[in-house]
Parts: sequence; C-alpha cells; structure tokens
Amino acid sequence: MRLRRRTALGALLPTLLATALAAPAPAAPAGAATVAPHVPTVVGFGGAVATVDPDATHVGLDVLRHGGNAVDAAIAAAATLGVTEPFSSGIGGGGFLVFYDARSGRVRTIDGREAAPVTMQQNAFVNPDTGLPFDFQEARVSGISAGVPGSLATWDAALRHWGTTSLKQALQPASRIARRGFVVDQTFRTQISDNTNAFGRFSSTSALYLPGGQPPAVGSRWRNPDLAATYDLIGREGIGVFYRGAVARDIVQTVTDPPLAAQPIGSWPFPVRPGTMARSDLSDYEVRFPAPTRVSYQGLDVYGMATPSSGGQAVGEALNILGQFDLGAMSRTEVLHRYLEASALAFADRNRYVGDGTSRALLDEILTDGFAGERACQIDPAHALGKPVAPGVPDGSYGGCASASAGAPETAGQSTTNLTVADRWGNVVEYTLTIEQIGGNAMVVPGHGFLLNNELTDFNVSPTQGSAPDPNLPGPGKRPRSSMAPTIVLADGRPFLALGSPGGSTIITTVLQILLNRLAFGQSLPAALAAPRATQRNTAAVPAEPGFAADQAALAALGHLFAANPEIGAATAVEFLDDGRILAAAEPTRRGGGAAGVVVPFGSPPS
Ligand code: GLU
Repeated sequence: MRLRRRTALGALLPTLLATALAAPAPAAPAGAATVAPHVPTVVGFGGAVATVDPDATHVGLDVLRHGGNAVDAAIAAAATLGVTEPFSSGIGGGGFLVFYDARSGRVRTIDGREAAPVTMQQNAFVNPDTGLPFDFQEARVSGISAGVPGSLATWDAALRHWGTTSLKQALQPASRIARRGFVVDQTFRTQISDNTNAFGRFSSTSALYLPGGQPPAVGSRWRNPDLAATYDLIGREGIGVFYRGAVARDIVQTVTDPPLAAQPIGSWPFPVRPGTMARSDLSDYEVRFPAPTRVSYQGLDVYGMATPSSGGQAVGEALNILGQFDLGAMSRTEVLHRYLEASALAFADRNRYVGDGTSRALLDEILTDGFAGERACQIDPAHALGKPVAPGVPDGSYGGCASASAGAPETAGQSTTNLTVADRWGNVVEYTLTIEQIGGNAMVVPGHGFLLNNELTDFNVSPTQGSAPDPNLPGPGKRPRSSMAPTIVLADGRPFLALGSPGGSTIITTVLQILLNRLAFGQSLPAALAAPRATQRNTAAVPAEPGFAADQAALAALGHLFAANPEIGAATAVEFLDDGRILAAAEPTRRGGGAAGVVVPFGSPPS
C-alpha cells in the first residue's frame, strides 16, 4: 500500500548527516540550565527520539548524534526519565521494550515486568482481620505492592544484545542531570503535591521531595545526588550491585521495614504494611525475551508485546476484529462504533484469558482471524452491545455468533511513560516503562534516590471471572498483567510506524485509536495523536475527552454512553515517510506536551 522508494530527498541524507555530525557537540542537556522547549512534532533525517520530556529527548538525540544506535539512545533517554520523570518511571520499576533490528529484519521484545516475591500468596491484598481487600491506597503505599524491579535488567539486556555502548555510558548523561539539577516545572510540582500525604509518611521520600515540608517551587533547581551516585555505582559495578549487592540490601530493607517518618508531613490514613521481598527474589530476577505478538492489518504487520502484558493481545485482537469490516466504505460514526465495540470485545477476552501464566498457544489462538471473525459478528451495526460483554471461546472452532452476555468490568491506572527512538540504520525501539501509580509505592529507597513501584496492585485482588479461573491473581514469583502496548508496524518488512503510551488500561485504546486515525481515517501522525480520545474497556460508560463530543451524539444514538474525562494517554510515535525522512511525534498538549526531535531537521511536519 505504500511506496518504498529512495527519492531525491532521501539521496540528500549522507550530505545532511555528515554536516550535522561534523557540527560541534551540543552543550550539556538543556535541563541542566533551563527548561527546554516542548516540541511535539519534527521531521528530518539521521534518527529520531520522542518522549514526554525535553531533557530525555535531548539526551537520546545526543547519543544518536555521536554514533549510538536506537538502543543506546533509548536506554540513555530512559535513564534520564528516571531522573526528570521519577514519579512515572525509574530503576525502581519495570516495563516492556519492543525492538526492530534492522540487521536481521526481526522484531524482538524484552519483558522487564516486575515480579512478585516467591512468598506472595493469592490473598496478599486481603486484610487478614476483615477478610476484605485493602483499600487501594492502603495496598499501594505498602511493601506488599512492590515487585522486584525489572528496568535496570532491561537496560542491561538491551544494551548487551543490541546496543553499542556500555550501561555505564548510557547512565552518564542522566547521572549528570541528577547531580547538576534541572528546573522544576508545574507537572513535577503537581505530581509531588498530589502525593504529599503518601510521600510525607516516609523519611526518605519527604527528605527528597518535600524539602522544608513543601514540594519544590516551579522554577527552582532540583537535584538528586543520591540517584546520581547510584547510577555511578551501577555504572562502575554493573547491575549485580542492584540485584545482589548493596542496593538489593537496601531495597529489601525498605520493603520489609518501610522508612517511616518520625514526624509525618500531612496525614496518611492507613497503616503502612511491610512486604516479604527477600534478597533471593532480587538475585533470581531475570528479564524474558518473548516472541512479539503479530497481526496483519491492511497489509501491514503490527507487532506488540506478549504476556504478561495484554497490550499485544488487546490491540491485536481489536485490529483483527476491525479488519473483518470494510471500514473504507463506512461513515465515520460507523467506523467509531466498530472501534468501541471491537475494543470492548478484546477487553473481555483480555480479562478472561490473559495473565502471566497464559500459554503461548492460547495467546496465538486469540489472535487468529477465525476467532476475530466470531467476535466481529457479535457487533450489531445498529446498537451498542450491553456492557460488559462476555469473553469469547478461542477454541479453534469458529462458526456463528455466540450470544454476548455479561462479563467483568475493567479498571484504569494513570501513570507511566513511553519513548520512541529510531536511528539512521533503521533500528527502532518502542519502550513503555512505569512504576505503576504516579509516585509508585511512595517509598524512596534511603540513600539511593529512587522510588519503588507498586506494580503488584496490577494483580486482581480477588477473582473477577465468576466461576471461571482468573488469569491475573497474585501468585509466587508471578508478574502482574499489564496493559503496556509498545507497538511497531512494518510495511513490507520495514518499519513504518512505532508508537506507545502510558495510561493504565487506556494505553490499549490510545494505541488502537491512533492506529485507527492514521490507517483507517488517513490522518497524519501528528493529527492522529492529537485527536480527542475515547476509551471503551468493556464498561457501561465510555470515558471520552472533551473534543470527542463532535462524534458523541451520533454514537450515543447507537446506545454508547459517554463519561467526560479530561485527558487520556500521553503517546509518542515515529513514522518513516516515503521520502526517507523520519517524522517524530509527541503530544501537543496532554501532560503538558511531549518532546520530539530528529538528528537533522528537514522540512515541515504534515499537519
Ligand atoms: N501499571 C500499568 C500497566 O502496566 C501502567 C500504569 C499506567 O500507565 O498508569 O498496565
């Protein structure tokens, strides 16, 4: 469907690149001195980086400019996000990385999801005194919610397998920013002030983020020397110091005996419950390299993340369902109706079948066209299905439509960050990383400057599937189901699009909707990102951003029920244009706007 040709513009690449690379190296990351500008869209040559943060984008571009590849740049940018976006990601958390390897033409993935301690039981989040699940905040701000972090092992594995620089080199720019400091913006301050009561409960967290009892002022310089020292230590000694050495000791100490403040700031209404993570849980942690999920859509190959993320399954299944229809012959309302219904159906199957223990055979069966056909025929062109819809039966035998009855509802999260990197050789990294809630479990590991995650609250606290087994209950060593959906789309075996987003389970619909906007509605990538979002996750009401209202009336007439939601997701993406240029795109306004960059800007982005 797309021409792959080397145009006159593409032929300019070697000259442009040589000029850019001969130019003097840029100064230290701008965040060291000022708040760098947010540029949401840019087009050009030589590689691209898109993140939520100008400093991280700057660091990634700097790596590309100095000859690093996409993996080197992605890890350096991720380490920087651990400094400048510490409430969304960092070495206390985990994530999923999808990599297109230009040399082999293959897509690879790393599952760096946090793991439960081997001592974790199914009732870990049930109050032994009442027999009822803990309040979410009580579960979150506890040692129980902290999973064994996977981010650092992900960075190390990615660099060892596909990078060209050392982990030490990749951590250096971030360490410099942590030591020199950066200027506090409104988002940073708000994320602290929203967490004052939780952060104020811990001596280490309040010392770092509530100096003098208050969040740092917008415009002030904020430093994290402990994190700089921890990055330097890891750079010198390798990840062993984190998983087996002094840092492991301090993580376990924090989880099992949380560093409570003698004089809390604010008021925290719950007891802080310790967890059971042991040194052996950390030393046994390993990343996994699952084969990516793959579906075909409009002749394109869409690669995503396999379990324990549900990103690849849900995005892939919904695309397969949409692929059963001739969307090109439909009105916008008819297409959006099918988008909402396909998403609800995919979420029903996600909730019923997808978790850490899901067999690969079952995951692959859910992604067959046969199953999609059976699911698609449940969609009534004239009426929205009653929600929640029931899961289907991916048993390999597909015929008429089974009736859709009630299933289990879905919940949402609200943190995380995403980055997209492409290099001049055509390698692409799509990486979503998180510490779960904004501020994770609110415990900074004393002396090390990073927050622990609360990822284990992504388990279902009690069975959600009626008499059927729930695939996402807590268990020993298990990884909680995720919605993270780093996605790479190939056209004729070569990269065309890469995208991802934070946003809890809305990640799936954000990625799906951007793909729909770009591929079915033919919007430019920046327009596809900027467009108002609506997220149907098999719930009665569909959260929708204000601008979605233009489509709401016609969809409401079909029976969709909308609920206002101020903001959904914060995506980043790249597109490889036919003329050889790369388009980097980030959010124009959501989360304060993202930061896109290319090594050699050339021309204007499409609007
Ligand atoms: N913990 C969530 C997940 O893995 C992501 C958190 C968020 O984006 O809010 O699906």
